Amino acid sequence: MSARLLDGVTIGNEIRAEVAPEVAAFTGRKGRPPGLGILLVGDNPASEVYVRNKLKSAGEAGIRADLERLPATTTMADVLAAVDRLNRSDVHDAILVQSPLPDALGADAERRIFDAIAPDKDVDGFHPVNAGLLVQNRASVAAGTPSGIIELLQRSKIPIAGARAVVIGRSDIVGKPMALLLLHRHATVTVCHSRTRDLPAVSREADILVAAIGRPAFVTRDFVKPGATVIDVGINAVDDAAMVERLFPPGSKRRDAFAKRGSIIVGDVHPDVAEVAGALTPVPGGVGPLTIALLLKNTLTVARARAGWA
Ligand code: NAD
Repeated sequence: MSARLLDGVTIGNEIRAEVAPEVAAFTGRKGRPPGLGILLVGDNPASEVYVRNKLKSAGEAGIRADLERLPATTTMADVLAAVDRLNRSDVHDAILVQSPLPDALGADAERRIFDAIAPDKDVDGFHPVNAGLLVQNRASVAAGTPSGIIELLQRSKIPIAGARAVVIGRSDIVGKPMALLLLHRHATVTVCHSRTRDLPAVSREADILVAAIGRPAFVTRDFVKPGATVIDVGINAVDDAAMVERLFPPGSKRRDAFAKRGSIIVGDVHPDVAEVAGALTPVPGGVGPLTIALLLKNTLTVARARAGWA
């Protein structure tokens, strides 16, 4: 058996095509486009790519997106001041602070900064008020990645209600909101993490298995019930030739890409899982494009809510 590939690029484009006319309608009515302020602190190369893609996609959808960059040596006070400027801005409806933040800002930096974002501009739903609303199933937006996965499942006609769902990973950004969004759509949800006992056996119970761990090819075929839907959230840069040779056969596109660039992106799911799963998101081209599409959709949602047009 070979799994159906769930194409995030096509579904992401579909969502973006739906958002664009609604953005135009907002702009016509409000006299300005929905505005997104992005803060990028430091010089993480992956973040540079993500932010560039977010700015480009927002522009294509007609959303105003502004980037403020702060150096890796910046202080917490400077970051909080930048957040405060965006909180008070009349042209920015949504605020995104790109993760990860530089280590020098301290272990609790993400929490302190997310806490400072005005809850009504919090496009990812990371503020504790919005996280609480999500627990109670009354949040207007939730983090882009898990929300994108829900769109992907729904548009691919994969039933969620009544399904057994297993989420591996319990981060505030992916694992926890994912589990809650699945729960609110009536899945029976198990959340697994680094201390879970017999992870493969628990994972094998899943009709829908979401891997959000951050370890290349960690989820092997023994984690997967035949026919299950497997969602691979992982984005892992791999520059180890031996690993690439273990994972991908000679002559494959991934090996060619590695030979050209010396590094490739590998998900959390082993390529062999495609022989067992019923449906699978590829990496790249699965969850990533949906995260961006949902950022645009969420920006429009918070802009409308702020205008009182929810
Ligand atoms: P994180 O490091 O905050 O969390 C990882 C989680 O995995 C933790 O909850 C931990 O308990 C769990 N874990 C770690 N080792 C484990 C093990 N051996 N067994 C079981 N569980 C284990 O990471 P995150 O921010 O949630 O991101 C997870 C992955 O998703 C990363 O690869 C990240 O790059 C990727 N990501 C992708 C997108 C996207 O758009 N596709 C968006 C966000 C994150």
